[in-house]
Amino acid sequence: MPKAAVRSRLPPRRVPQRTCVGCGSVNAKRQLVRIVRGLDGEVRVDPTGKAAGRGAYLCANRPCWDAALKKKRLERSLNVAISPASLEALKGYAEELPVEPGA
Ligand SMILES: [Zn+2]
Repeated sequence: MPKAAVRSRLPPRRVPQRTCVGCGSVNAKRQLVRIVRGLDGEVRVDPTGKAAGRGAYLCANRPCWDAALKKKRLERSLNVAISPASLEALKGYAEELPVEPGA
């Protein structure tokens, strides 16, 4: 039997992982929040994880967002200047997130 046929029957085992731009730790993609620089150049939260554009990932806790926004890591990662309106929206989103020191 060709090896390719055997391999295709196996379930996918690798969990997609991404690096949080806030704390730099690697997590399962589904546990991270995707931020996308949309085709219009605006930066926003992408709850679906499927929006078109360049994406960056952050843990779902406030310290990571604070770090990413204050230290401009998000801007650097997305290679874009975040507009004041987008920044406010991101901060608003971050305020809804739990604070988990050390997470
Ligand atoms: Zn993080």
